Amino acid sequence: MFRNKAFRWILLLVGVAAIIALTGMNVYSLYDIRDRMAEGEKKRQISLIDDLVGNIRNEVYQPFRGLGRIELEPVERSIAKYGKFPNQVQQRINTAATSPIFNGIYYTPDGVDPCVQGAEIYSYNYEDQSLTLTDDYPSTVCDGVGLVRTKARIELNSGQYRWNHSVEFDAHRTMNIGLINLKEKRLIGYLTATFDQDYLLNDLVTPMIEEFNANTDGSVIWVLSWLNSEIIATNRPEIEYDRKIDGYSKSFGGSLFENWVIRIGFIDNPVASLYNNTLYKNLIVLGVAVLFLLGALIFMFYTAQKERALSQRQAGFLANVTHELKTPLAVMQAAGENISDGRVTEPERLKQYGNHIFNESIRLKQMIEKLLDVARTDSGQTLIKSSPHNLNTIVRDFLTTNREYIEAKGFKVSFNTTDSRTMIMIDPDTVETILSNLTENAIKYSTDTKDIRYSVGTDSNDVILKISDKGIGIDKKHIKNIFKKFYRVEDSLNAKTKGHGLGLSIVKSLVEMNGGNIEVSSEIEKGTTFTLRFPIFVSEEKTLNLKKNRIISTETFTDPAEHA
Ligand code: ADP
Repeated sequence: MFRNKAFRWILLLVGVAAIIALTGMNVYSLYDIRDRMAEGEKKRQISLIDDLVGNIRNEVYQPFRGLGRIELEPVERSIAKYGKFPNQVQQRINTAATSPIFNGIYYTPDGVDPCVQGAEIYSYNYEDQSLTLTDDYPSTVCDGVGLVRTKARIELNSGQYRWNHSVEFDAHRTMNIGLINLKEKRLIGYLTATFDQDYLLNDLVTPMIEEFNANTDGSVIWVLSWLNSEIIATNRPEIEYDRKIDGYSKSFGGSLFENWVIRIGFIDNPVASLYNNTLYKNLIVLGVAVLFLLGALIFMFYTAQKERALSQRQAGFLANVTHELKTPLAVMQAAGENISDGRVTEPERLKQYGNHIFNESIRLKQMIEKLLDVARTDSGQTLIKSSPHNLNTIVRDFLTTNREYIEAKGFKVSFNTTDSRTMIMIDPDTVETILSNLTENAIKYSTDTKDIRYSVGTDSNDVILKISDKGIGIDKKHIKNIFKKFYRVEDSLNAKTKGHGLGLSIVKSLVEMNGGNIEVSSEIEKGTTFTLRFPIFVSEEKTLNLKKNRIISTETFTDPAEHA
């Protein structure tokens, strides 16, 4: 038995543990999926940033693409002779001159120092496609030429030089191209294209990052100028820059815009906001499923426990019943044997033996009847022959028959009634069984104060029968069980009283079969009251009218007043 019980508990615990483990795994994998998706989304956005930077570089380099394949030796000659670039170079310069990225193009021959006032600097004029000597050139030409000249010279001297031109940016100010005579391995001169910074920021970079916004969620892009630590463009101005925000920085490559950094910040895990909804829905569905599963498991466990308890009670009952049946039979057998043997002849003893046999056979009969009652109600075979009756009459009849017996046990009996003529649909035989069971209980479970009160009253819907005693009462924790089959309160008194836990279950079934209900209220040491309610079939008023008009036959109708 113990092992069986322990096994059941182990199964329950294993079941619960399995559910918890599965739930844990599911929740873990849901979060894992979210994190992986978040990582994937981050990578996607990072690669978008790389593309973005590539596009911007492309726009900047575009005009000078292919310069490396052009012979540059004629440049010096053409400028000296015609004040123009040779054709192929000119085409590139024209593209740059018409590109809105640049707002000026200058040419500085090698050996000229653009940082000295009055130096020989040419400005390119797109209108007549000519080079004009100018004094009016920005100071950035000096910086830019300085940068590219140094770089190109170092490369030429180290012999690493492979291209006919070298490019160097002065941050976002100028793009500088050193033109090289590859045959003679010397510098020819320098082209300086000055950036239109307004256009760069407002018409190139900003629209690109704004467009980027359409593809992303949960992220922000900043273009930072680290020189003066300021944000020069962003797609979400409402979000303040914070370098602690998880993100990715990308420079424009080489010396292009080298004081600028483009940074993507993942404010809200980018996918989180996309996936969180799905995640929460999944979690809710999972939660509900787990609750159902746990509920089902606990319900199964609970019903198994209940069934086990019932079967235990049944087993106990069987042992009890066998014992109870054997005892009166043994007494009857012994008494009968003594009489039939002729051993007992004195009339006094004969009478005594006769009484024994009589009493024990009554006990036996009662017990068998009770068992049959249970069997009948269990199998639904109890036939209820309902007809309109007055409960006062039935209770009064019951007391007439049984008062002597109850009083003989030392009880005070009282019956309180309004003598209402209200009728209910009921089978009087079953009421008899109900009354005798409840009375038996009141007798069995009363010790010091022996007092049983019966009362019949009405309210607007029901006829109410109460049976109260001043007995030992029932503990609250047992009350919900006492109507269960085979249930007995296991305390010292009950151990002494005889019973099988069947009376109240029979009573409840019979009350319900008659369309009524039963409730109990009880207080330990103070007593117990059973309250039975049966719906009114014919009200008092109508009963009187019907009776006057003789609609109810006297067979089914018993007037309590007449009866008393
Ligand atoms: P039993 O055969 O044990 O009397 P019942 O079904 O009639 O079985 O009652 C179930 C249990 O309810 C009893 O064992 C007893 O503990 C409790 N009980 C029933 N009626 C009373 C009462 N009037 N006073 C106190 N306890 C009662």
